[in-house]
Amino acid sequence: MNNAELYQRSNTLQKRDALDCLEEYKKKLNWKNYETVIDIGCGDGSVTTGILRKFLPNDFKQLIGCDISDKMIDYANMKHTSDYVKFIVMDIAGNLPDDMKGVFNHAFSFYTLHWIKQQEVTFRNIFKLLAEGGDCLLVFLGHMPVFDVYRILARSHRWRYWLKDVDKFISPYHDSQDPEKEIRRMMCKIGFSSVEVQCRAKSFIYNGLDALKRAVKAVNPFNLPEDCLDEFLEDYVSVVRDMKLIENDDNVESSVKVNTNYNLITVYGVKRTTLIT
Ligand code: SAH
Repeated sequence: MNNAELYQRSNTLQKRDALDCLEEYKKKLNWKNYETVIDIGCGDGSVTTGILRKFLPNDFKQLIGCDISDKMIDYANMKHTSDYVKFIVMDIAGNLPDDMKGVFNHAFSFYTLHWIKQQEVTFRNIFKLLAEGGDCLLVFLGHMPVFDVYRILARSHRWRYWLKDVDKFISPYHDSQDPEKEIRRMMCKIGFSSVEVQCRAKSFIYNGLDALKRAVKAVNPFNLPEDCLDEFLEDYVSVVRDMKLIENDDNVESSVKVNTNYNLITVYGVKRTTLIT
């Protein structure tokens, strides 16, 4: 998950979903002049500058990408920094630096919050980052077959040791019956207003097993020895095959299709602490 170069070549699914959600919410986002924006879990920075940046008004004050991984931030700073865009290391589930609190008019996060177990701490921190009247748009995974594949592999003799921490890497909402209600309740408790939570079925097709393997490798959270990786990816594909998610399996690679049906959660909320009269 730390390989920025590989990630930015294999995040087509993540980019498509970021773009769709921004398109859907762009009218709702309440832009004013000279505003400050944060992208939480910016990874390699390609979504921050290649997608999110295009939805910002021209006169924004600053766009900050933050990520827990210093490797991702080094890469993002090398490739995507400019006068008004910078990247910093920050754990959104940790203690926030004081100078980040109450600063941001808009907070975004794409494909990150499902990596984090401490959901309430994280949402509280997002609330703290926002200035009065600021809003957030957060996009992350609910149910996703990838997590079932991880679980199956974690039970196998071959991968049990390396995948012993599997639960750490499964979305907190993968098994939820009603993630919308759970998240809405948590956000209202924290103090967010105008809360909207949507959990929607989406699908994505990987053209060929190599595309699937590249995507799996790019987000692989397990600390596997380098020389086991190809074998791991082969076993990953076998599980996907057993789950009957591969079409045209016995055909040439170019016609093989891998279907992924998953739930994407989109959250919008506003920090309004003073009453409007
Ligand atoms: N937003 C990018 C990257 C998503 S990958 C995109 O849409 O393509 C998820 C990123 O979340 C990774 O770079 C990972 O390092 C980061 N991340 C995971 N836990 C985090 C945390 N607690 N705080 C900040 N970033 C985190």
